[in-house]
Amino acid sequence: MSKKRIYLSCPTMHGEEQQFVQEAFDTNWVAPLGPNVNEFEKEVAAYTGSKAAAALSAGTAAVHLALKLAGVKEGDIVFVSDLTFSATCNPICYEKAIPVFIDSEPDTWNMDPKALEKAFEKYPNPKAVVCVHLYGTPAKIDELMQICQRHHVPFIEDAAESLSATYKGKQTGTFGKFGIFSFNGNKIITTSGGGMLVSDDEELIAKARFLSTQARDAARHYQHSQIGYNYRMSNVVAGIGRGQMLHLEEHKAIKKRIYEQYKAAFADIEEITMNPLNPDGESNCWLSCITIAEGCPVTYEQLMDAMEEHNIESRPIWKPMHLQPVFADYDFIQVKDGISVGEDIFNRGLCLPSDIKNTEEDMQNIINIVRGCFGR
Ligand SMILES: *Cc1c(COP(=O)(O)O)cnc(C)c1O
Repeated sequence: MSKKRIYLSCPTMHGEEQQFVQEAFDTNWVAPLGPNVNEFEKEVAAYTGSKAAAALSAGTAAVHLALKLAGVKEGDIVFVSDLTFSATCNPICYEKAIPVFIDSEPDTWNMDPKALEKAFEKYPNPKAVVCVHLYGTPAKIDELMQICQRHHVPFIEDAAESLSATYKGKQTGTFGKFGIFSFNGNKIITTSGGGMLVSDDEELIAKARFLSTQARDAARHYQHSQIGYNYRMSNVVAGIGRGQMLHLEEHKAIKKRIYEQYKAAFADIEEITMNPLNPDGESNCWLSCITIAEGCPVTYEQLMDAMEEHNIESRPIWKPMHLQPVFADYDFIQVKDGISVGEDIFNRGLCLPSDIKNTEEDMQNIINIVRGCFGR
């Protein structure tokens, strides 16, 4: 097929990125660290309103260091969102700690405060709670954090998908002890690959930088008293990030427009519901998703096939972690017995193409294909 492919979400470059990268080349700050890394950290900290930020090689590395700095060790229990991408919970297993998966609530698709409460009844002493803001929509942060505070357990926000989203006027990722962001290729802004750990605790962020550069002690020779990691972001990559930061708000505005356009286009089809937003916040609408009404004969697979025929990419909702073979041995907490909220969303949901380069014609094509599947 010669028709151009329409993507779910892929990099959008503007030109400034290349200038920052060029600067790195011109000054030979190609590696390892350098001004782009420092400035990118400052820019993300200033934008999000967190006191400090450490630029890392990936969002996953940021989750890993957040857990380490929260003191998570072998055998510790960590409560984590069930409906998410595996990168939210893989680092728990890097540390040989034990994930306990917490179901979603239907209002925002994120961690259910009632299920979290229930988890604390069963496991009173977890080491940390890791909560995702799925598809860019903030979780019920106040309710979740109140529970964590009552139990004196650190709250870690996986804001990989929600950079620029806010909750009660404050950026996601800045509520918990730590927030993590990702600049992977399909995120709202990208550095080709990279991540950021943010916190209001500047000492802990300094510690993150230390751990991410092989934990080298302050000695003239190479001395190590701790196990380190090679997790730092390179100065070239950070240059891309600085260029992208200039366009973050613009990307968000377009993502929101895409969501609104789908919502309006499917308003007359009662079998289709858009993914919920949180009325206490503003989503960045990273991906626009739908769920198909229960009992409707149309499946998400049919929609995917119909779009794929026109070279259009779509994606199932993340498959819940407790259903993943690799995590089958771990516990899962849901409020009511029966099919969980997350599994139900997975069974009936689909992520629609949400790339900000979609033209009006692309959007109409997608909308017509989806409408066609429902006989409209
Ligand atoms: C993308 C993503 C990550 C991981 O980010 P990387 O930069 O790819 O390591 C973590 N959590 C969630 C929810 C993500 O979507």
